[in-house]
Amino acid sequence: MKYDDSDYEQVTGSDFHNFLIEKGISLNCPACENDNVAIMADAADGPVQTIFMTINSPPRLAGREVPFMSLTCRNCGFVRHFQAGNVLDWLKEESRNG
Ligand SMILES: [Zn+2]
Repeated sequence: MKYDDSDYEQVTGSDFHNFLIEKGISLNCPACENDNVAIMADAADGPVQTIFMTINSPPRLAGREVPFMSLTCRNCGFVRHFQAGNVLDWLKEESRNG
């Protein structure tokens, strides 16, 4: 499924939190094991920050941007990125199921 900026803007901090819980992601930091982690979003009911990383190689993909939604550790600063498409696919599936 292909998404655009307006799709990403509709994902809230709460949506992303629910995605992490439903996927069984440990909220404890994998680097320092602290449980003081934060979703990178304006607010629980505000939009998640979408971070784009640019592919450099292989050349056929160079310049393509891949969107991520992220979780950061308030203790050590370790950041985990999740592909935004997976979050949106999950949200779409959730809304279909009720
Ligand atoms: Zn940490």
